[in-house]
Formats: sequence, C-alpha cells, structure tokens
Amino acid sequence: MLNGRTAVGVGTPSAERTEANPAAIIHVERLTKDYVLAAGIVHALRAVTLDVNPGEFVAIMGASGSGKSTFMNLIGCLDRPTSGTYLLDGIDVANLARDELALVRNRKVGFVFQGFNLLPRMSALGNVMLPMIYAGLSGEAMRNRGLAALDAVGLGDRADHRPAQMSGGQQQRAAIARALVNGPSIILADEPTGNLDSRTSVEVMAILQQLNAHGITIIIVTHESDIAAYCKRFVRFKDGRVIQDQTNLSPRSAAAALAELPAEEPEVMAS
Ligand code: ADP
Ligand code: MG
Repeated sequence: MLNGRTAVGVGTPSAERTEANPAAIIHVERLTKDYVLAAGIVHALRAVTLDVNPGEFVAIMGASGSGKSTFMNLIGCLDRPTSGTYLLDGIDVANLARDELALVRNRKVGFVFQGFNLLPRMSALGNVMLPMIYAGLSGEAMRNRGLAALDAVGLGDRADHRPAQMSGGQQQRAAIARALVNGPSIILADEPTGNLDSRTSVEVMAILQQLNAHGITIIIVTHESDIAAYCKRFVRFKDGRVIQDQTNLSPRSAAAALAELPAEEPEVMAS
C-alpha cells in the first residue's frame, strides 16, 4: 500500500513512499487505539499508517477528539497501541518491556506540552536538568549541558528563574530546552503554541525550525493553519483516521516572519 501523500504549494508532488521505508524514523502501520469505558469502547485511532523520515517537520491537525493526542502519546511511547506496528528508529517498541520502553523514550524523544509542564518550585535550570537525572547523569557535566540547552533557546540569562518569574514564551522555551538535553532525534509537541500570543508563538516556531535545521525531526499538533504554515508537512486526522497527508513545498520562515512583525511589546509575566 502506498502512503497517499500529495503536495501543496508550488512545484511538483513529492514521490509517494511505500510503507516499508527503511529510512523512516517513525514507521506506523495499521495502528489502533481503543479506550474501554463503562459506557463502551472509544476507537480513538483506527488503523493509522504513516511514515516520518528523519529531518521532517510535521503538523498534525484535526478537530478536537480526532485522535491527535492519542497518536502523539503512542509515538512518544507514553502509551501502548491496541494493535498495529510501531517502529521507532527501527525498534519495534511493542515488544519492549516497560523499563526498556522508558529508556528508549528518554534517549530518543523530547516532549513539549501546551501548558509547559514545568515544576513550579524549580528554577529553569533545575527543570532542564530533570531528564538528565532520569538518564543517570549528575554533577558539573549535567549542569553545563543544562546551561547550554538554555543558551540554545535564548534563556542563558534566566537559568535561576522559577516558572512564575518567566513569561509564557520563556516558560515554553525552557520546556524546549528540557526536551533537548538528552539529545533526542525527535521532538513531539502537542499544541506548543496553544497558550501563547501570536508573536510568542512565532518565536517558539522559530526555535523549533532552528532545531529542525540541525536535523531534529519535529512533530507538532496544532489547530492553527498559521502555525502549520511553518511546517514541512500537514497530516490531518478525523475520527481516528488520517484523511489528508500533504507536503508543504514552501514552509514559511518564522525568523523572517518575526522580522516583519511590529516591534516587540513587553511580555506579560505568567502568574
Ligand atoms: P485530540 O487530541 O485530537 O483532541 P484525543 O486523542 O485526545 O483527541 O481523543 C480521541 C478520542 O479518544 C476522543 O473521543 C477522546 O474522548 C478519547 N480519549 C482520549 N483519551 C482517552 C482516555 N484516556 N480514556 C478514554 N477516552 C479517551
Ligand atoms: Mg489533544
């Protein structure tokens, strides 16, 4: 079966890819997820087949309840599918024990959430160091890597700030630094700009585009076509199925968009 992907924008459609694509960093085949409730079964995903290659920047779109977060949770090894195949970087994660799964997740995947999910009592640096502690690192090396990650998102001067002392945009950048510290090959972000104003959203997209340019594969969920325009590929879910899969041949540059936006207004502190 072919992955029926079409192209938008100027140029010719990209080549269709077979599902047995050995280069794929994410290979999902007939993936299903059922939630069993007292009231009945919810078929959250119904036989989703999809490949993502290294270096892609994918926007997952679709109405509320269409299965986007369920899909992200499976891709990020936070949950297990009911049936189907999932190879993450060639590893059949369905056959991994719980601790092996956690190890793969910690090494390969960085997560970014809509609500930032920073620990309120910890500094930006403390939050950023957490995944390294889980990975068994410690000491000065860990601290330096945490500071480097904060530098990479332009927060080098905010290392000691707690989340409440940072704006929403700064908190999300700290969360991106946290997602980066273990050197993941993939960043998964479920509505990363959902709580941010439009300029701050573009700033976050600029950071994600920069990371993508350095080779990190990025998958974000968004319901805003403005945000999806910065991505290289659109995948649309409906009722647990992929109903559209398109290459964006002319992704917008977030850095260029920022240069055109009116002068920065002072950021309001998140409470
Ligand atoms: P989206 O992120 O696109 O809004 P979700 O993946 O969260 O969609 O949900 C897909 C469907 O699965 C919805 O019908 C939702 O109510 C249901 N669902 C999601 N998570 C659970 C859960 N933990 N238990 C039961 N049903 C769930
Ligand atoms: Mg969701």
